[in-house]
Amino acid sequence: MERFVIGIDVGGTKTAYGVLDSRKNIIRSLTHPSDAGSSPEEFFGQIAGNVKKLIAACGIEKEALLGVGVGVPSFILYEEGYIIKTSNLVRIKEFPARSYLSRKLGGVPVILDNDSRAAAIAEYRYGAGRGFDLMFYCPMSTGISSALIIKGKPFRGTYGWAGESGHMIATPGEGLECGCGNRGCYMSWCSGSMIVKHIKQWIAAGEKTGMIDIAGGIDNIDSIALEKAFDAGDPLAIRAFNQMVRWFGVWFFNLYVSWNVNCFVIGGGLVKMGEKLLGPIRSAFDRYNHDERPVYFKTAECGEDCGVLGAAELVYGAGEGEA
Ligand SMILES: [Zn+2]
Repeated sequence: MERFVIGIDVGGTKTAYGVLDSRKNIIRSLTHPSDAGSSPEEFFGQIAGNVKKLIAACGIEKEALLGVGVGVPSFILYEEGYIIKTSNLVRIKEFPARSYLSRKLGGVPVILDNDSRAAAIAEYRYGAGRGFDLMFYCPMSTGISSALIIKGKPFRGTYGWAGESGHMIATPGEGLECGCGNRGCYMSWCSGSMIVKHIKQWIAAGEKTGMIDIAGGIDNIDSIALEKAFDAGDPLAIRAFNQMVRWFGVWFFNLYVSWNVNCFVIGGGLVKMGEKLLGPIRSAFDRYNHDERPVYFKTAECGEDCGVLGAAELVYGAGEGEA
């Protein structure tokens, strides 16, 4: 019997679904914006509804569905499939997501893991991490994170949030407040959503920038407007860029000295800026690294489907065993 798996990638801005057949081909996809205003019940209720729609649209019998893998951008208790908190979807907290979703789907097995870890599994198996025994997958997106693979196995830590290094404190008590509950974590200085908050703060303080016109209003400023303004030499965009480069460089260096893992696979929306961002980040890293041994900064290769593929891999057993 043909067996199917559904992989779901919950992001800070959008949620993506993929139905995979026995050959792990994505035969149907679905994407919708992540509703930051939803309660956990509404949020995962919507996901359950979409899973049912996908199954019906593909003509899949319930018995043929091997399971549903879900990557969430959250601090989770892996064993329990429980979400503690989510920096970019602050209402998604203290919620038994796995059991709730499984119940809504009539007992279909559900596996829940951190979204970066799911993507790390995909990159290790199919992408830029192939051949590296030790690798970090670091999304630079709405949020930032660093999922670690050790000898092919994901490392989760005691409770499940190993790799949430975006919330390591860079400037104690200083800077913008992050969804993690602290001020001055790395994420608060350089993630996609937080850099936009900095830009808006500078504008509120009277700074001039072309980003407002480029984006069609201050509320629409995003990383795309930032990049366009940067290309045009906009001083405020350059300031934002330099801030990101500085903190990303420090963050990568601190990961490198604490773990001595020399393969960083970088994914997420900010990677679309390419060398204009990654080149200076590598230079910032090199300023602190006084050793000649190779350190690889690779761009993720699994593309838009990375999170979905990784979430599906959890169902195929990638979540079993631990580094
Ligand atoms: Zn934080």
